[in-house]
Amino acid sequence: MHDVYPLLKKTDFPDIYRGILKTVQINLGYKCNQSCLHCHVNAGPARKEMMSIETIKDIISFIKKNKIKVVDLTGGAPELNQHFEYIITQARKLGCHIIDRCNLTVLLEPGKKHLLEFLKKNKVEIVASLPCYEKVNVDAQRGDKVFEKSINVLKMMNAKGYGIDEKLILNLVYNPQGAVLPPNQNKLEVEYKFILKNKYDIDFNNLYTITNMPILRFGSTLISKNQFNTYMDLLKDNFDQKTLNNLMCKSLISIDHQGYIYDCDFNQMLKLSMNADGRIHITELDINKISKINTADHCYGCTAGSGSSCGGTLI
Ligand code: SF4
Ligand code: SF4
Repeated sequence: MHDVYPLLKKTDFPDIYRGILKTVQINLGYKCNQSCLHCHVNAGPARKEMMSIETIKDIISFIKKNKIKVVDLTGGAPELNQHFEYIITQARKLGCHIIDRCNLTVLLEPGKKHLLEFLKKNKVEIVASLPCYEKVNVDAQRGDKVFEKSINVLKMMNAKGYGIDEKLILNLVYNPQGAVLPPNQNKLEVEYKFILKNKYDIDFNNLYTITNMPILRFGSTLISKNQFNTYMDLLKDNFDQKTLNNLMCKSLISIDHQGYIYDCDFNQMLKLSMNADGRIHITELDINKISKINTADHCYGCTAGSGSSCGGTLI
């Protein structure tokens, strides 16, 4: 795989600064039951990195001390970490709202079938990837039979009340198939809702469109296809100043499986530390002492068009 960071390091991205910390996004490990083409984590079944129970306990202490409101679980497939249920139970006791970034198909894996009921009981918000409502496109990006399995899991979720009961939120995530910007989020949501309801009788709450980041697997593919510079020009040409106020890194920290801190998940993947002087562990972090966000050219992926974040568009 090509290393993209040398191409991103020199940047003219504007200086940006942290606001109040609201969310901790926790990467529970890089193992995943899928190996999607666009994956910015380079996750897959062969990855071994997993967050330990000790690190999880350190994070719970940080959440308690800093009165964190939202815990956002990601991976890989976060459900594959054996402590997935423990961290949710502990964070719920502290009154946190929990988000599970779920690839859907993982809930069909052996030993994981009880998880949907557990997620329901804890009112965990589910953010699930479904990059298209067409089988051919989903399978091309995410793997053979992923579409069919995803539809089955979405039906199971609806049957539990997800996407229907107002306390059981089910959001879907769209990302483009290639080196283009996502279409209008609101219009696409209407289209998704119409097709998923009429073809498969599936309900969901919101659709988030997310711009593909020019890093790791997707970034490397761009380099292989000689599209890297064109894609960066596309992101830069569509820069919108208004997105800067709402960037997710202003209210979030990202924690890797070893407990080290980054300004966001993308910076984590680039190993772009929060503190330019070296890595900071969750046990050492005084969030009030850190203000400036570490940026590189990939940040233009968050500011192109209507902007992009783990919660969809920014403006
Ligand atoms: S499901 Fe998500 S984490 Fe897993 S390979 Fe696909 S994009 Fe990466
Ligand atoms: S890539 Fe990360 S640090 Fe850069 S703008 Fe986006 S969220 Fe902020």
